[in-house]
Amino acid sequence: MANSKIKLIQGDITEQAVDATVNAANTSLLGGGGVDGAIHRAGGKAVLDDCIKIRDRQGGCKTGEAVITTGGNLPAKYVIHTVGPVWNSGSAAKAEKQLANAYRNSLRLAVENNVKMIAFPNISTGIYHFPKDKAAEIAIATVKDFLAENDSIEQVIFVCFDNENYGLYERLI
Ligand code: ADP
Repeated sequence: MANSKIKLIQGDITEQAVDATVNAANTSLLGGGGVDGAIHRAGGKAVLDDCIKIRDRQGGCKTGEAVITTGGNLPAKYVIHTVGPVWNSGSAAKAEKQLANAYRNSLRLAVENNVKMIAFPNISTGIYHFPKDKAAEIAIATVKDFLAENDSIEQVIFVCFDNENYGLYERLI
């Protein structure tokens, strides 16, 4: 059952018409490179304004946690900003737990906001250098576990940008 709700595509996450697009943000929430830069460029000022409000209220977003903003000019209603771990910043076991938390907390926030379709990038596998194979295993296992326990999300789309991630996900799903 959970498997039929999971879809895999290769492409640009900013082009996905979904209820919520997940952003691999950093703890400042003020934008960065990679997918974060792409989402802020496409989403525009409204996304950044919401991020600044959250930052003023709670001081950003901790690793493994998630916050939600408008989708601004994106074809998505919301952006769920989550912060993945930086690989080699502590123990591997801790980073693995934090990466699973990033996926799980994004999904929880999605459910709270009545999101039915959600798109994930390959969190932490860019600038944060988490090993792609291990990250793909954690992402898929965490999403499957969540979908098995929770009915309300109808579709989870893994949007792979690079060939290596796409190949890994294709094998695992
Ligand atoms: P992190 O800091 O969490 O590693 P990055 O943005 O550097 O975040 O990379 C996360 C993943 O997002 C990488 O696999 C990268 O290839 C991918 N990525 C970069 N741009 C886009 C985009 N426009 N759409 C989807 N994925 C993207």
